[in-house]
Amino acid sequence: MLEPTWPDNLRVLERGWLSSNNILLMPPEGEAGSAVLIDSGHSAHAEQTQALLAHALQGRTLGRLVNTHLHSDHCGGNALLQHHHDLTTAVPASQLTAVQRWDREALSYAATGQRCDAFRAEEPLFTGETMQWAGQSWTSLAAPGHDPHALMLWRDDVGVLVAGDALWENGFGVVFPELEGVGAFDEVAQVLDLIETLPVRWVIPGHGAAFTDVAGALQRARRRLAAHRAAPHRHARHAAKVLVKYHLMEELRQDVQTLLDWAETTPLLHSCQARAQEPGTPREFAERLLLELLEAGALRREGQVILDV
Ligand SMILES: [Zn+2]
Repeated sequence: MLEPTWPDNLRVLERGWLSSNNILLMPPEGEAGSAVLIDSGHSAHAEQTQALLAHALQGRTLGRLVNTHLHSDHCGGNALLQHHHDLTTAVPASQLTAVQRWDREALSYAATGQRCDAFRAEEPLFTGETMQWAGQSWTSLAAPGHDPHALMLWRDDVGVLVAGDALWENGFGVVFPELEGVGAFDEVAQVLDLIETLPVRWVIPGHGAAFTDVAGALQRARRRLAAHRAAPHRHARHAAKVLVKYHLMEELRQDVQTLLDWAETTPLLHSCQARAQEPGTPREFAERLLLELLEAGALRREGQVILDV
C-alpha cells in the first residue's frame, strides 16, 4: 500500500521515550506568520528541545506553544521555551487555572513524584474548538482516559491526528484515573471509537514515530484495553513499574535508599499497591518492583546505585 504523503509545513521532532514528541507547525513558505509548537518534552531535555527548535524554526519566530496534556514529559520544556521565545501558551481549558496558580496537586506532579519546571499559560483550549495555527486549521478533541484533561488535535484537510498518549503505535499510556479508583477504561474505549470515525491518514503519537496503520494500532490498543479490564490489578502493577522506571529516567542514577525513600513518599505508588493488592509496606513493594525492573534489564545496578539504561 502506498503511504500517504506527509503534509507540508508540519514537522515532528521525535524524541527518546522520556520526552514526548514535539510537533512544529510552520506557516507556508513566503507568507508572514509565526510557528506553533505542540508539546515541549521533558524538563530534563529542555535545553535540547530549545536547540532542536532553534534549528527547525529556520529564522521564524515561535508564537504559540500548545500542550495536549500536562504530564511532565509533554510540558517539561515549557518554562525554558517561554524564557527564549515571546509566545502565548495554550493548555486544556480545564487546567488553565491550575497552571496559573501552579497547583502541583491538581497538575498531578505531587502524586506521581515527577519533576516539571513551573511555567505560565494564558490561553484555554476548549474541546471541539477549531483554531488557526500557522495557517492550518486544527480542532481539539477530548481524549480522557489516560488523563482526564487530555486533548487530541485533529487537522481534517490532511487527515493528521496528534494523539498524545491516547493512542500509540503499540498501545496507549497508563490509565491514570484507574490507579486512584476512578473508572476510566470506558473513556479509553470511547476515544478509540472516536479515532475510528475520523479519516485519519497519519497518527502522530505522543511517543514514537508517526504511523499510518491506524486500524492495526486500534486493534492492538483494544486488545491491551481488554487485558486491563480483565485484570485491573495487573494494570496497576504495571503502572507502578512505569512510575519507578520513569523516575530513574528523570534522575539517570540514584542510590537505592534514596530511590526507596522516593517510592515511599510517592502517593500514586501507594494507590497502585492497593489496586494491585500487593502485600507489605510501600518500601517492600518498591523493592520488589525494583528487583523485577533489574531482572528485566530495564534498570542496572552498580553497588548501591541504580542506573537507568
Ligand atoms: Zn501522558
